Amino acid sequence: MEQKMFERLKRVADEIKKAKSVAVLTGAGISKASGIPTFRDKDGLWKKFSFSQFATYQAFRKNPKEVWLWYNYRKKIIKQAKPNPAHEALAELEQRFKENFTLITQNIDNLHYLSGNRNIIELHGNIFKVKCTICDRVYVDDKIYSEEELPPKCKHCGGLLRPFVVWFGENLDRDLLDEAIKSATSDVFLCIGTSGAVQPAASLPKIAHDMGRFVAEFNIDYSGISIYADEVVITEVTESLPQLIKLLDS
Ligand SMILES: [Zn+2]
Repeated sequence: MEQKMFERLKRVADEIKKAKSVAVLTGAGISKASGIPTFRDKDGLWKKFSFSQFATYQAFRKNPKEVWLWYNYRKKIIKQAKPNPAHEALAELEQRFKENFTLITQNIDNLHYLSGNRNIIELHGNIFKVKCTICDRVYVDDKIYSEEELPPKCKHCGGLLRPFVVWFGENLDRDLLDEAIKSATSDVFLCIGTSGAVQPAASLPKIAHDMGRFVAEFNIDYSGISIYADEVVITEVTESLPQLIKLLDS
């Protein structure tokens, strides 16, 4: 890592050492090294597929089977994925701060849970959960259904199931969002692998910044979040985050 980046990382580590609480916001960039495609990169999913065809409630009502086939395709990719060193670094960070650590994620891939994080706010849901459109129950269901079984039915009431994810045009769960906003007031707020393109998650670093908290961004490129960051570390997050953890002990 080049010297300038190392010094920035060192400053972030020093702020974390002084902090009593830490919150983290993650996006698709952290799971890229685990083989999960991002959405807005040049080779991202929305370059190949149209979100209006697969990721809206209207599309689901019109053709639930087609939408479920797309989620099955993504479930297969995500099921094979394993947490990478960036996920592991965040699990380590939670170990250090325990209940004073909050991980807010826009990812639906469950990799933070697999790497050991427990205090997770999944703003956009979880691909391995389903929600019934009739009785509203949410439960874990990681099965990859055959085409004939689609769309799947609720095990409680037989109603049509949908993936437990937030689609375009849908509101986030109000309680989750309130919790996320509350945690943005932690002493240190880290933004990792997120482009800052999707609201309202993208407003969290601004809230932290406006409240005078220390904000750091870890990304492969500058983003809409960079202007709110006290430090920006531009390099692969699988490199910078493990290095950050090492610096906490130095
Ligand atoms: Zn039901």
